[in-house]
Amino acid sequence: MNDQFDVTIIGGGTTGLYTAFYCGMRDMKTKIIEYKSDLGGKVSFFYPEKKIYDVGGFYGVRGEDLVEGVEKQALSVQPAIVTGEQIASIEKVEDGSFILTTAAGAQHFSKTVIVASGLGTFDMEGVDLPGSKTHASNIHYTIQHIKQYEGKKAAVISDSRVGVDWALALEGIASEVHLINHGSEFKAVYEHDIDKLEASSVHVHRETRAVELKGEGNTLSGLNLDTGDRLEVEELLVYQGLRIEKSLYEQWGLKTDKGRISVGHDLSTNIEGIFAAGDAAIYPHKTMLIASGFSEAMTAVNSAKRTIDPKAKSQVYSTVIYKHS
Ligand SMILES: Cc1cc2nc3c(=O)[nH]c(=O)nc-3n(C[C@H](O)[C@H](O)[C@H](O)COP(=O)(O)OP(=O)(O)OC[C@H]3O[C@@H](n4cnc5c(N)ncnc54)[C@H](O)[C@@H]3O)c2cc1C
Repeated sequence: MNDQFDVTIIGGGTTGLYTAFYCGMRDMKTKIIEYKSDLGGKVSFFYPEKKIYDVGGFYGVRGEDLVEGVEKQALSVQPAIVTGEQIASIEKVEDGSFILTTAAGAQHFSKTVIVASGLGTFDMEGVDLPGSKTHASNIHYTIQHIKQYEGKKAAVISDSRVGVDWALALEGIASEVHLINHGSEFKAVYEHDIDKLEASSVHVHRETRAVELKGEGNTLSGLNLDTGDRLEVEELLVYQGLRIEKSLYEQWGLKTDKGRISVGHDLSTNIEGIFAAGDAAIYPHKTMLIASGFSEAMTAVNSAKRTIDPKAKSQVYSTVIYKHS
């Protein structure tokens, strides 16, 4: 714990993992600190089964497979990995290095810091309807294993893009998919997803609420709707928003814009020695995408490397590092 690292990465999402890999390529002693018990960030949490088409070189890769790949890359350079710890504060000390303190009071020591913690920590809002506590075994808040829906009647309660994504992912796998939205529109949805939804076999129930969950023992078997209808359901997915505990970037002394950390072209923040990458970072024309995080990770690491060793090369090629493998 008292060891000083060259770089400490806050957040073990796709950006944090790739950052760790690239730190290894730059020969830096690296630690990742992740709040959740598992690595993978938003991809693992929200859409492990979704196919992702916009990461270069991977046309239609499952979220979980992408995380597995980037985790393998990270592990290949053997960073120290701490999970289940939330960084609460960062203090810069006299010699220019940093002490990171977790919510539980543990301290970590580092010459530089790369913040890859997105907007902060997140958990799903639970459903609170009559029956939801009792018949809870087949109520889910993310699609973790799509096979479990195979041939079953599934319903999704959501008024957002996440629900549309899930309903489309289940189509063709579940025997029936119902999407229940209490409003008439879906929030933050892309037009082409609505086109897909309309062309799909998903039964969309607009301006409809589930009012009661029915079942036996801990297993849900149906939903009563406020229209008076009853839906037989074997698996229920619910997305009613997130509880985000925003990282305390401003309290850490970082300059922010819309809750994210303002960075320069070298991914530096206003505090020398702290860099940011991925969804945590903001600059003009920023895209909040996995591939942007990968690219920013490399720049942030190169900047951190040159903070420690100003004579270090500005970048390296993997073929040079891995010439023997
Ligand atoms: C439903 C949905 C679909 C998407 N689809 C796509 C897509 O198809 N293609 C694409 O490119 N992008 C997509 N995105 C965006 C993409 O998921 C994000 O850009 C990407 O996951 C950001 O990765 P990250 O590692 O920067 O942040 P995150 O994945 O948010 O990881 C941050 C990690 O930091 C941890 N953390 C936070 N605060 C702390 C703290 N104080 N201490 C320790 N740990 C902390 C969190 O627990 C989390 O694991 C989608 C996003 C959503 C929500």
